[in-house]
Amino acid sequence: MRSVFNFSPGPSTLPEKVLEHAQNQLLDYNGSGMSIMELSHRSDLFGEVIQGAESLSREIMNVPPTHTVLFLQGGASTQFAMVPLNLFKKSRKADYVNTGNWSKKAIAEASRYGAVRVIASSEDKNYTCIPDLDSSQFDPDADYFHITTNNTIYGTRFSAIPDTGKTPLVADMSSNILSEVYDVSKFGLIYAGAQKNIAPAGLTIVIVRNDLIGNALDITPTMLDYKTHAEKKSVYNTPPCWNIYMAKLMFEWVVAQGGVPSLEKINREKAGLLYDFLDSSTLFRGTAEKRDRSRMNVTFALPTDELTVKCVREAEQKGLLNLKGHRSVGGLRASIFNAMPMAGVQKLVSFLKEFETENK
Ligand SMILES: *Cc1c(COP(=O)(O)O)cnc(C)c1O
Repeated sequence: MRSVFNFSPGPSTLPEKVLEHAQNQLLDYNGSGMSIMELSHRSDLFGEVIQGAESLSREIMNVPPTHTVLFLQGGASTQFAMVPLNLFKKSRKADYVNTGNWSKKAIAEASRYGAVRVIASSEDKNYTCIPDLDSSQFDPDADYFHITTNNTIYGTRFSAIPDTGKTPLVADMSSNILSEVYDVSKFGLIYAGAQKNIAPAGLTIVIVRNDLIGNALDITPTMLDYKTHAEKKSVYNTPPCWNIYMAKLMFEWVVAQGGVPSLEKINREKAGLLYDFLDSSTLFRGTAEKRDRSRMNVTFALPTDELTVKCVREAEQKGLLNLKGHRSVGGLRASIFNAMPMAGVQKLVSFLKEFETENK
């Protein structure tokens, strides 16, 4: 057992069992005498790994045959450009909801290639909530509609997925993929950097509806065209083999936990424990509006910067790491992704209670 709990927002903690499994196979993958890192991406051994990762990802997220799963590089940030380059095919218009830094970056990037309309924003509320959406305002001509399902920095989450009718719904799910059950068939495209809830940094998962592949703008670089990767089953060029292997181990771990529905239940309990404490506290306060609270990133604050610094430092001494809030928000943030066990949240809450008693 490791002696610390890591609340980092990403790269974030991975299950100890997954790390141990990887450690045991590190020098000799499946009796090949080679490390998984040394295998050709064209070898049968690696072929089994990537096919296994793909079929497991489809199984645990219930991905319908209408959608393709891709294993790419470049992080979620590359998807900020890849989405418009591939999906701007008719009107070259898109609707975006601005719910924080990541949405803003996605908006800025898409604006280089077409007409982007921010149809709702919570910027005026410091992104402490998800703005109300009025579907009569949605542009029926838009090529797609973009949301960020979970806002890692501000600790907010869409509790309801907008119904965009015929307009493909695109979601940046970097920080809450696999944490709750989503109906993938409702989305045109889902993307996620792996380093929050799936694997080490360096892998990006894209789930894209098949009819949205193959219409990229002429200026699209080959590597940024979904078609390139869909046709070659994510091995057009050398893929991030190690990360795909780690993702497969993580998907197996998800299955062993009882799948995404079980994880969702545990995640509700973990977040509930922490929010219940914050709501009852006379010293700490949760910063996101209740109805929009994230179950993955819990943002909270203390009355002064001195207390915040003290709290982060004392937590560290107790083995509760990386609780400092994002530099643009301040305060504290506990990222409690799938791999954070209930024991970690319990230890955090006991520590915060103690801190409250000592600093009232
Ligand atoms: C972390 C994060 C990103 C950025 O991911 P990279 O893989 O570093 O590009 C984008 N969107 C959300 C919601 C994130 O949490």
